[in-house]
Amino acid sequence: MRIYDVSVGISPQMPVWPGDSAVKLERVREIAKGANANVSRLECGVHVGTHVDAPSHFIDGAATVETLSLKVLNGTAFVVDLSHAGVLDAPTLESADIPQGTHRLLLKTRNSEFWPGEGSEFKTDFVGVDESGAAWLVQRGVQLVGIDYLSIAPYKQSRPTHRVLLEADVVVVEGLDLRAVEGGHYTLYCLPLKLLGSDGAPARTILVAD
Ligand SMILES: [Zn+2]
Repeated sequence: MRIYDVSVGISPQMPVWPGDSAVKLERVREIAKGANANVSRLECGVHVGTHVDAPSHFIDGAATVETLSLKVLNGTAFVVDLSHAGVLDAPTLESADIPQGTHRLLLKTRNSEFWPGEGSEFKTDFVGVDESGAAWLVQRGVQLVGIDYLSIAPYKQSRPTHRVLLEADVVVVEGLDLRAVEGGHYTLYCLPLKLLGSDGAPARTILVAD
């Protein structure tokens, strides 16, 4: 058995979505300064790093993150290598070798190469799924889709893709680091923080290969 940690590290240096404030992770009590224990405080957006989107992210009044099905978030998954694709539209997905009956699909793209930099600069030229690709995923019965940068949709095209997926109750996992993972079958474990009433939540996410 081999375990791949496909979560990105959360730190003040990591890139965040434009307009979101940078992550703050700071000691508020320190043994070195006479405190009884070291205690830190975290301040960040809920769409930070590796995270899931709930339907309420783009649909006002829709389901929030604690209601997402653990059965959908965990189970067999297929990683498809689309490292050479420029946009993930319906024809691109149709011509990729995605097995029929895939319910959890992770899209490995050239985006994963953005992660090793560890710099805080947000990249805008990431690959995403366009509206036609989202419709293709829904029609194929995909229940969870993951991608290796901070949005499932191309930059500045967030709404159409998210709406198609979230209206169909497809769980969207963003911010995966799939550099070390090859295409193929795995078991996915994705456990978002149980934030009540939230439109998203950070999620420690791993893939297990037999
Ligand atoms: Zn998100």
